[in-house]
Amino acid sequence: MREKFRQFMIGRYGTDGLNQFLSMSSIVMLLVSLLTRVSLFTWLGAALLILCYYRSLSRNISKRTEENYRFYSLKDRFNNKFRSLKEQWANRKLYHYYRCPQCRQKLRVPRGRGRIQISCPRCGTQFIKKS
Ligand SMILES: [Zn+2]
Repeated sequence: MREKFRQFMIGRYGTDGLNQFLSMSSIVMLLVSLLTRVSLFTWLGAALLILCYYRSLSRNISKRTEENYRFYSLKDRFNNKFRSLKEQWANRKLYHYYRCPQCRQKLRVPRGRGRIQISCPRCGTQFIKKS
């Protein structure tokens, strides 16, 4: 049986980080569907599970590797965003955070200095804000 499975999996993609994420989300969706009795979650969970199996049995390994790579870069972006929001929240009493009106660069200014002129280090735009 084990040998047959091994034979079956030869040349197939197998599992990766994206598949782990997909199977975990499908379990979460199915649990939510059990708790809320909303059939949408059942369908979502089943769809994620099918996608997960499809990916691990796929023979198009380069395409699956690329998907996994995109998943990880998205995950990194999400984690960075989350980390910066956390930092912003932790420093909320010390700093004000503004975005440059010109280039959207995030700027940090110390609090409690009254009205100050801020100049963006990226594009040089100057604007006045309360600190
Ligand atoms: Zn700017």
